[in-house]
Amino acid sequence: MLVKSYKIIEILPCLVDPEKTRVIAMISEDVSGVLPYINAIDKNAIYTKNANTLTLPKSERLITIHPRKIAITKLKDEQEAKKILDETIKLINETFKKKSEIKPDYERRKRPNFLDIYKLLPKTNCRKCGELTCFAFAAKLVKEEIVITRCSSIFESGYKNNREKILKILQGSGFEIPVDLK
Ligand code: SF4
Repeated sequence: MLVKSYKIIEILPCLVDPEKTRVIAMISEDVSGVLPYINAIDKNAIYTKNANTLTLPKSERLITIHPRKIAITKLKDEQEAKKILDETIKLINETFKKKSEIKPDYERRKRPNFLDIYKLLPKTNCRKCGELTCFAFAAKLVKEEIVITRCSSIFESGYKNNREKILKILQGSGFEIPVDLK
């Protein structure tokens, strides 16, 4: 058995769906080495080698496994979080046990659509992010050459809906999102 225990360290409102909660749990062991193996057996998984994360989209919910923590969105309550954490730990441990039978997959499967992101940006070309245009920012964002937090305008209250949509797209593609935004 690789992971022996976990501890929920944060229960926060879900940014994608504010009526629900998101949970972050610390796990007792580093699971980095198992992520490419889960990526190989779960065709919906989104593995990000540079960030060392694996995102599993499950019934509208995103489960992101980091080396030492698991973040889950769109939860009803803590009880549901524990159930999904138990299932995720079981997946990690069972995959770890069968590692010798699986060929690891280090490839990422999906990138967000550039236009989907661009349409949701403020499109003011204010340059606060350091780019000349929102268009240039979107192009760099989908290639992971810049992070969403560089666009301070999208974090203003008037852009709440668009911000939530962008974060949902980025999370769904396994992008690294700062923990306090998840
Ligand atoms: S900071 Fe945001 S709104 Fe301003 S140019 Fe960059 S992407 Fe566009």
